[in-house]
Amino acid sequence: MYYPEPISKLIDSFMKLPGIGPKTASRLAFFVLTMKEETVLDFAKALINAKRDLTYCSVCGHITDREPCYICSDQSRDRSVVCVVQDSKDVIAMEKMKEYHGLYHVLQGSISPMEGVGPEDINIPSLLKRLQNEEIKELILATNPNIEGEATAMYISKLVKPSGIKVTRIAHGLPVGGDLEYADEVTLSKALEGRREL
Ligand SMILES: [Zn+2]
Repeated sequence: MYYPEPISKLIDSFMKLPGIGPKTASRLAFFVLTMKEETVLDFAKALINAKRDLTYCSVCGHITDREPCYICSDQSRDRSVVCVVQDSKDVIAMEKMKEYHGLYHVLQGSISPMEGVGPEDINIPSLLKRLQNEEIKELILATNPNIEGEATAMYISKLVKPSGIKVTRIAHGLPVGGDLEYADEVTLSKALEGRREL
């Protein structure tokens, strides 16, 4: 109402981002007006390219610009261990720690009956397929330490254990209710080291 349409559209766009309210959105929008046209074009291109060129690895579900992703195609990794995480950001956190050399499986979510998310809605079917087709000896469940994360870990554990594959859960010590991606490297490394068999 108060702004010319192009700027109110820009404000609306910023407000679609997480954690950005109307005040911040309008501050960012007005900042864009002061940027060089070239910089704004680069920014817009980066947004479009990230969306267009990135896809999900058909094997592990991690975000990637090639198929399979750089982790799945790395032959030097231990292919007998798969670490199950909720999100690609968790893979990045684990990789930063530099102590884990196995493979991953990214669920892209967690089971949440409250929000109507069932096992079929996240990458659990593809995980089960991998367990059948690959020589996996250990499955490390590194879902977040909150209700949904725990429920998801329990669900997978119950499903997989009868097959004889070792199923472990990363240790507590991670902040309860927190996200894996925000844990510092030492905490994460300890949680991995102290994993227990389910
Ligand atoms: Zn992959």
